[in-house]
Amino acid sequence: MDDCIFCKIIRGEIPSGRVLEDDDFIAIHDINPKAPVHLLVMPREHLASLNDIGCWTGERAQKLLEFTVAVARAAGIGESGYRVISNVGRDAGQEVDHLHLHVLGGERLGGLL
Ligand code: 5GP
Ligand code: ZN
Repeated sequence: MDDCIFCKIIRGEIPSGRVLEDDDFIAIHDINPKAPVHLLVMPREHLASLNDIGCWTGERAQKLLEFTVAVARAAGIGESGYRVISNVGRDAGQEVDHLHLHVLGGERLGGLL
């Protein structure tokens, strides 16, 4: 997608702190962190949100989750604990319409859940 900010990051047109990447997914530091560790995991393929994941195989969806676990471990929060969140749509406050998972940790997290 030409005007998608995360597609631009994936293409290297906008700099970002990359934590981990493979052929299918990348993880970056959130520009406005809400916790000591706040990472964003996203597929290189542009999907607007989890609502569109039906076009994926189950294997691809599993790889996304396994990649997310690997990202948490690489960031040093695999054992201390972390939260994975994906905002979908208006009521969730989704700002960037490119599927991404927030990985938050590094402290005791408060919040809704
Ligand atoms: P959403 O509200 O869509 O779930 O989350 C979008 C996230 O992307 C926000 O936490 C925001 O701080 C982050 N973000 C927006 N623009 C950029 C950017 O250019 N670079 C990085 N690294 N993060 C961004
Ligand atoms: Zn995109």
